[in-house]
Amino acid sequence: MQDLNGKKRDDISVYINEQEYIANSYVMKCFSVTMLVYTATFLLDLLGIFVVDQKLMWQSYVPSLIIYLVVYFISKSMLASSKKTKYFILFSIILVFTIIGVFITYHVVLVSLLPFLYATIYSSKRVMRYVYALTVISTIVVVYGGYFYGLCDANMAVLTTSTLQNHTANGQFALTEINANPYFTLMLFYVIPRCLIYIAFGVVCRRIFSIISNSVEKAKRADEIEKARIEAENANRAKSQFVARISHEIRTPINAVIGMNEMILRESKEENIQRYSRDVHDSSVMLLNIINELLDSSKIESGKMEIVSVNYKIGNLLHDLHNMIRIKAKEKGLELLFDIDPALSKEYYGDDKHIKQILINLLSNAVKYTNQGTVILKVTCRREGENAVLHFAVKDTGIGIKEEDIEKLYDAFQRVDVTRNRNVEGSGLGMNIVQQLLELLGSELQIQSEYEKGSEFSFDIVQKIVDAEPLGDFQENYLGNYKAENSRINYIAPDAKVLVVDDNEMNLRVFQALLKQTRIQIHMATSGMACIDMVNNQAYDLIFLDHMMPEMDGVQTFHAIRNNKMCEGVPIIMLTANAISGDRERYLSEGFDDFLSKPIIPDKLDRMLLQHLPKKYITVINTDESADNADDKVMVKEVSENMTALDGLRQRLPELDYEKALAICSQDENFYLELFKDFTELQIKKELTGYMSDKDYKNYSIRVHGFKNNAYSVGATDLGDLAYELEKLTKSNSTDGIHTLQTRLFEQYDSICLRYKEVTGSDN
Ligand code: ADP
Repeated sequence: MQDLNGKKRDDISVYINEQEYIANSYVMKCFSVTMLVYTATFLLDLLGIFVVDQKLMWQSYVPSLIIYLVVYFISKSMLASSKKTKYFILFSIILVFTIIGVFITYHVVLVSLLPFLYATIYSSKRVMRYVYALTVISTIVVVYGGYFYGLCDANMAVLTTSTLQNHTANGQFALTEINANPYFTLMLFYVIPRCLIYIAFGVVCRRIFSIISNSVEKAKRADEIEKARIEAENANRAKSQFVARISHEIRTPINAVIGMNEMILRESKEENIQRYSRDVHDSSVMLLNIINELLDSSKIESGKMEIVSVNYKIGNLLHDLHNMIRIKAKEKGLELLFDIDPALSKEYYGDDKHIKQILINLLSNAVKYTNQGTVILKVTCRREGENAVLHFAVKDTGIGIKEEDIEKLYDAFQRVDVTRNRNVEGSGLGMNIVQQLLELLGSELQIQSEYEKGSEFSFDIVQKIVDAEPLGDFQENYLGNYKAENSRINYIAPDAKVLVVDDNEMNLRVFQALLKQTRIQIHMATSGMACIDMVNNQAYDLIFLDHMMPEMDGVQTFHAIRNNKMCEGVPIIMLTANAISGDRERYLSEGFDDFLSKPIIPDKLDRMLLQHLPKKYITVINTDESADNADDKVMVKEVSENMTALDGLRQRLPELDYEKALAICSQDENFYLELFKDFTELQIKKELTGYMSDKDYKNYSIRVHGFKNNAYSVGATDLGDLAYELEKLTKSNSTDGIHTLQTRLFEQYDSICLRYKEVTGSDN
């Protein structure tokens, strides 16, 4: 590409810098064409097609050929000569041409027009004027001179009585006595017609001249613009690459700073150190934000940001957004309202990640630039056939923007109202990213703002409807759930012994973490066989059995226990991610005492334990008491008010459902982070590819099933859904499409792991 561009540029510069050479070569080309025509005419004449006196033909052809050769050499040598010499040679040529042209009558027009062409292509308008004058003067001089000195051309002979006889011999000419007044006749029949031809030709040549010079000018300008564009592009690419590389390099140490600082925050008991450490944290998170914005912006600029459309649930997207902004709004004492049209469809097809990023930027700005009042996100929809036009509007009661500043908002690194906003951190990139992302999505931002009153930023996005079922009341269906899932019953049962069996170690860890505060003795087994061994050796109060396990599954293990009359009377609960309606009945009819679906909802687990564990072991603690004993328990935090490593994850992996995941982890952020780390270290790709190449679809399906659960546990809902699809596919024994789904699953998993590593810097 570069070579091609380079070559093209060279060609153009040859045109511009060596215009003279080009002009000369054009003249030579015209002249050569003329000579060809001339030679062809001559040959035809030799063959008797034209009946022209052959002697005359020789007389005119040979001198023309000589002229051609002379002109050829002159134009070659002119290249090196000075400007004055060039003019001198040029005019001499013109004069000689005109004179010869007049004499070589048969080809007079062809030959005598050459000076015009020559002047046209080679020279300027001034030369053209000289050519006019010279050709007219030389025509008059030569015509009359020739007549008086008997050097007249063949046609002129027609008009002279003395030579008329020679030419009427073959009966071609019948004119007589026309030359009674030779001055008038010569003027009328020679000078005027020839001059008119020259003038007409001159006009055409001037036109050609202007076209040529215009196009050379244009080529020159286009070349300059092209050069400037390429230079600017190269510079911009270099800048983007530099920014991307540097940002990436900076991110790793910042993550290390955040990580180390986190340790200080956790371990130090000194108030001063804690305060400094919090400041370090705030500043490094701010720096990380700026770096991330820089990276995004350079990605967009270098065209690396692509639209990736997927099926997504709008409720989840809005729910995540609410969770992310809620904390910031709360810190500033602002009211955050999500006014969501209940008629919105549940599922759409589109680039949810970028829509989310746009909304995060707009909502963060709204919170940032509002000191009191409300920030509202309003989402409405309008149906258009299979699609919906979603209208998003972010409204605030903040400081507003002056009208003259609105157009500056989109400029990268441009902040407005700088004096007023000097204490508000920001890079001035947010709006630029929003605008560019919206452009990528085929939309644009509308801004309405009243200075000191507030602003409204809105945009429309067309999305394909996947599941047209209405979303319903967002507040109740999405935000309400969150509260319900968090209200756990406080109890302890330190003497109770529970066995939990699952082939997936991550699931076991989740289970254990969920029950940490209850102090129940939890024993774990990773297979049916191990479970039977343990049951043989120990008495348990309650057993949780996972269904899908390799070799001996949960149902087989259950029957083995019951048939061998082991631990009689101990309730056995089926623990499974097969949350299909009717499952519960199926498991109960198998003989299980109860059924609990995964991912485990903590309060459901609590209720199940309270129901099935012997009552004597259970001590329920009332809420006040539990507050006093907070040290003994897992910290049930709201979501930490401080920025933590989790915030980094929230920013880099905004698509995850953190609230659900944290609910599963009993709001224990540290445990969630550990769980996430385990999740990113799974050998799922290796295992699945292994099963696939052995065509062992049974274990493949079991493994995918377990992975689905792991994904849901860390809040990777989409990935979990994908694993579920894959699981269904393998179960239906249809191997078509497994590869495609598996590839998508691996891609999504890789993308999550990669971003996780970026946040934690764990790849280093
Ligand atoms: P920054 O990082 O400075 O916030 P942005 O590109 O996000 O950069 O925004 C550019 C400027 O637009 C900000 O500096 C601010 O002055 C103004 N601005 C953006 N959103 C709002 C808002 N909701 N209310 C008032 N001013 C805003």
